[in-house]
Amino acid sequence: MAALTENPGCSRRRIVDAAGLKAHELADRLGHPTLRGQSPFAIETGNRFEDRLKKRSGYALLVEALAPFVDLPAPPDLNVEDVNSVGRLADAQTWMEARVAKTDEALARIARGGADAPHVVDHPVLRLDLTGSSVNLEPDALAFRVGDRLELVEIKSYAVIDGQADPAKVSATAAQSAVYHMALRATLERLGFDPELLAWSVILVAPRNFGRTPTAHRIPLRKKSAALARVLGSVPRVGELLDDLPHDLSFDVGSTNTDSRAASEALNVVVSAIDALYVPECVQNCDMAKFCRSEAWSNDDPSRVGRTARDSLAGVSSLSEALALARSANATDGSDAEVGGALRDAFGALERARARSGDQSLLSRTVTDGPR
Ligand code: SF4
Repeated sequence: MAALTENPGCSRRRIVDAAGLKAHELADRLGHPTLRGQSPFAIETGNRFEDRLKKRSGYALLVEALAPFVDLPAPPDLNVEDVNSVGRLADAQTWMEARVAKTDEALARIARGGADAPHVVDHPVLRLDLTGSSVNLEPDALAFRVGDRLELVEIKSYAVIDGQADPAKVSATAAQSAVYHMALRATLERLGFDPELLAWSVILVAPRNFGRTPTAHRIPLRKKSAALARVLGSVPRVGELLDDLPHDLSFDVGSTNTDSRAASEALNVVVSAIDALYVPECVQNCDMAKFCRSEAWSNDDPSRVGRTARDSLAGVSSLSEALALARSANATDGSDAEVGGALRDAFGALERARARSGDQSLLSRTVTDGPR
C-alpha cells in the first residue's frame, strides 16, 4: 500500500502485486535483496506491547487505555472475538478465507447491534478491492460498537511523551489507518450496512513517556482518507495495465530454467519489460527498490536524482542527454525545446556561479557520483 500510494504511477509494482508475488522474494530472486525492514528488536518490542495490552492482561489494559474515548465493559464481561480462533487450516489460502468470513460475520453482528455482538474484534482480516486486484489486510486494529458507531483502534509501540508523539510516526500511522478505514467502510457496504457507522478517526494506543503504561489519542482521518481515495481513483485499474503488456509475459521462469542464474536473468528480462517509475523515495516504500535503482542508474535515468528532476526533464531519456541539451549552444525546436531552454538557462547560471566561486568540479560532481 505504501508503494502504491507513494508512487501510484508505477505499473511494475502494481503488476507484481496483482500477480500475488511477494516483492521482497522477487527482489531476492533478481539478485537485489531488499534494503529495508524493521529491526527484529523493534518488532519484538511492538509485539510485546501489543501482547501485554491484549492476551497477558486479558484485554483489561486495552479497555483501561481506551476509557477516555470508549466506554467498554471490563473483563470478564468484555466480549472478544478473536478471528484467529478459526485454527490452522489445510493451507494458507483456506485459512485466510476462513478469517475473512469470520471477520465479516463479527462485523455484521456489531453493525446490527445485537446483545451478542463482540466489543472487540482481534486479528481481523479485511478484504479490499485495490483498483482491480483483491488484497487482504491484517491490521492489529480492532473495531467496537459504542452507541451507534464503530471505532478503529491501532496499537503502536512508539512513545507518546507529554501527550506528543513523533509527527512523522503519527502521520505514517494515519496513512496506514486510512487504508484500514477504507477497507472497513467497503466491508460494511458489502455486508449491506451504512459505512457511516464507522467514526472518521482512529484511536492510537501507545506507551506513555517510554514506560509500559498505555495511553490513547484520537487521530482524525478524514483528510488522509480523502487523499487516499483521490490517489486510488486516479490510477488505472490492473486490467488496463495488463492490456498493455505482451500476452505471453510470465513471471514463471523457473519451469523452463533449472539453472538458478539463468532463471534470475530470465526473470530480469520479464521484470524489466514492465514500466517502472523509480524515484529515490522508493527505497523507503518498496522492496523492489534496489533492483529498480540499479536499473535507473544503468539507464542513466533522470529519476535517479529525484522526483523533481524526473518531472522537470519529462521527455528527456537520460541525464547525459540533459547535459548535452544544457551545453548545446543552439536552441532546438523539437518536443524538448522548452526543457532544453530551461536547461541552458540553468547551465548558464551554474557556469557564472562556478566562475565566481572558482569551483570547477561543481557540475561534474553532480552527475558522476555513484549509487550508495
Ligand atoms: S521500487 Fe520499482 S517497483 Fe517499487 S515503486 Fe519504485 S519503481 Fe515501482
